[in-house]
Amino acid sequence: MEIIRESKALRDALKVQKAAGKTIGLVPTMGYFHEGHLALMREARKECQVVVVSIFVNPLQFGPAEDLAAYPRDLERDLALAVQEGVNFVFIPEEKEMYPEDYATHVEVERLTSVLCGRSRPGHFRGVTTVVAKLFNLVQPDYAFFGQKDAQQAIVIQRMVRDLNFPLEIVVIPTVREADGLAMSSRNVYLNPQERESARVLYRALQKAEELIRAGEHRAGAVKNIALEMLCKEPRVQVDYFEIRDAENLRELEMIRGKVLVALAAWVGKARLIDNIMLEVE
Ligand code: AMP
Repeated sequence: MEIIRESKALRDALKVQKAAGKTIGLVPTMGYFHEGHLALMREARKECQVVVVSIFVNPLQFGPAEDLAAYPRDLERDLALAVQEGVNFVFIPEEKEMYPEDYATHVEVERLTSVLCGRSRPGHFRGVTTVVAKLFNLVQPDYAFFGQKDAQQAIVIQRMVRDLNFPLEIVVIPTVREADGLAMSSRNVYLNPQERESARVLYRALQKAEELIRAGEHRAGAVKNIALEMLCKEPRVQVDYFEIRDAENLRELEMIRGKVLVALAAWVGKARLIDNIMLEVE
């Protein structure tokens, strides 16, 4: 596995691979790997001849009051895990490599980014799409792999790829969970034992919503109220949102029909956690 810190070196290394006709898969991450990240790497390994993983805690996607400085990092462990997964290249740029002085260009997907996490984290998705667009240009992958855990992110990136004609395919892989259902996240490390216990309610609320919908309750408001009641009852959990939206255009639904995204965000202690399920409803 080759570790690359500079854009030019990355381009040069990949030029050789492309000239040899190899298919390239990119897995963008912020590091501090867990099984979710590893699942993305495994999928990339299966689909592509060359796997590139980027590790970059992107300052552009953090708000001024968010956890950029505290975001967990463990590069040595990450590199060892990437080797185990058969990753070929790890790209670890410094901040100034990605955003040199006088950096002035941003990519913004409209509408899809003003709801859900975009409402509580203004500028977040602009930071995500900007860094992902840069990584797509640097790596020029055939496939890029993202997790369903960040459902809105995957939807926004798919829209960017379509709208800006990036010549690649986005692959979205299912959310990897702990044994009790909690979605894996680098931010779970912020939870103390009591908060970790309380955090179980997030997935349970989603499961409850699914159960109600499958039993024929198609009024979004009714499903939402029951889920919110569960969440609000749990100590140490502060709900940011629980919403039921169209999985393609993220429009809010009154009646649950078609491909729907049931998504939530909540603060548990100092961790802002998100989770979601996607359902196909007749
Ligand atoms: P992050 O390092 O948190 O930015 O995540 C990097 C990639 O891993 C993103 O595409 C995430 O959606 C994905 N990811 C994070 N957590 C999970 C999970 N529990 N299951 C599947 N994918 C995940």
